[in-house]
Amino acid sequence: MERALLQAMQTLPNISLINHCFVIDLITQHHLGYLVTKSTLNIRCYGVYVLNLESNEIEKIISKVTVLATGGNGQAYRTTTNPIIATGDGVAMAYRAKGRIENMEFIQFHPTALFQPGESPSFLITEAVRGDGGILRNKFGEAFMERYDERRDLAPRDIVARAIDNEMKKNGTEHVYLDCRHMPLEKFIHHFPNIYQKCLSVGIDVSKDMIPVAPAAHYSCGGIKTDEFARTSIKNLYACGECASTGLHGANRLASNSLLEAMVFGHRAYLNSIEIFDNNDASSPDYIACSEADIPDWNAEGTRDPKEMILITQSLKELQQIMSDYVGIVRTNVRLTRAIKRLDLLFEETEELYRSTKVSPQLCELRNLISVGYLIVKGASFRKESRGLHYNTDYPGKSSIKENIIL
Ligand SMILES: Cc1cc2nc3c(=O)[nH]c(=O)nc-3n(C[C@H](O)[C@H](O)[C@H](O)COP(=O)(O)OP(=O)(O)OC[C@H]3O[C@@H](n4cnc5c(N)ncnc54)[C@H](O)[C@@H]3O)c2cc1C
Repeated sequence: MERALLQAMQTLPNISLINHCFVIDLITQHHLGYLVTKSTLNIRCYGVYVLNLESNEIEKIISKVTVLATGGNGQAYRTTTNPIIATGDGVAMAYRAKGRIENMEFIQFHPTALFQPGESPSFLITEAVRGDGGILRNKFGEAFMERYDERRDLAPRDIVARAIDNEMKKNGTEHVYLDCRHMPLEKFIHHFPNIYQKCLSVGIDVSKDMIPVAPAAHYSCGGIKTDEFARTSIKNLYACGECASTGLHGANRLASNSLLEAMVFGHRAYLNSIEIFDNNDASSPDYIACSEADIPDWNAEGTRDPKEMILITQSLKELQQIMSDYVGIVRTNVRLTRAIKRLDLLFEETEELYRSTKVSPQLCELRNLISVGYLIVKGASFRKESRGLHYNTDYPGKSSIKENIIL
């Protein structure tokens, strides 16, 4: 999909691609000196501040329409299948700009990532392997899924992930096994050539050895709240892809729906935003005229070059530990309360660092991940029920809550 889009773009002279820019924040009327709070009506987006990674300067990009398509936030967890860019930047930016965020508690954990401590992102062992006959076993070799669900290894993702989590906690292990030894090898190689090769590369021969697997953060169902045309609560700002919460995934995404959603809502954002280009925004009563000259330049006064990267890398590790230990597959009220206290401290320390240090992608990503962590914990704490991907042992049943939780 990416290749096709990039190729098509090259044939269209009206599209310019700006590379090597890291987006820091959305520009709204807040930057024109107006007070913007969560209850401000008609917050409007005028573009973004970006860090040009080649010149190391912070620039303004003013735009009639802005679309956030910044991907997921799996890097908030210690183990994730997500790429290193999945740091929830769009969600955090929209939140800082006082946009509506919802359903952040619905983090999907893929049940079977290859267990390789320290490897990020984790290598995914697709559930098609279980579809073809792979069996999950605990450290005693027991096929444990039959104790959890009559569909056994083919139960939905959240049920399998919780079962694995429980087996690991019960037996004090860091992983379980996926047993493919009984599957015809030729067929396995034909269906899963990459998995076969990856396992071999780390010394696992699937015809003789069981594959060590553990759940990993995989997909964020929630995000920036949009309507059916990808419009966010902020005027002229659209969101699509994993950073958006279109409502399509509910509390538990079905496999393979996310790319479809990204395509449909990306297209809808385009269809809907044509109106903004065609209509003159200036006729609306709340319009505030804004040109590049009106937007202040980025103020880096009083900041200095970062001296100790350890402050950033260690805080990131702490965040991932807090999120994995307290806000993972199974949650409790006590764990959530503890998580929020720990996050508060990390937030304060990082904001202090942000105020005094020259902006870098690493620092911004840490800051964004802390906001995302906060939003996940808050969403999880407000939801007094277990539903889909959110499971709290203090509220094991579903409640009649119909509304999504908006943060
Ligand atoms: C291992 C794996 C397997 C999957 N398999 C499937 C599948 O089979 N079917 C399916 O439907 N889904 C699948 N998914 C989910 C799906 O791939 C993702 O949800 C989807 O790719 C997200 O697309 P996106 O365009 O929203 O974000 P991404 O593709 O992550 O793109 C986000 C882009 O935004 C850029 N960006 C982020 N922050 C900034 C910033 N501050 N400044 C500038 N640029 C920024 C990033 O560099 C990146 O280029 C899978 C996910 C994983 C991890």
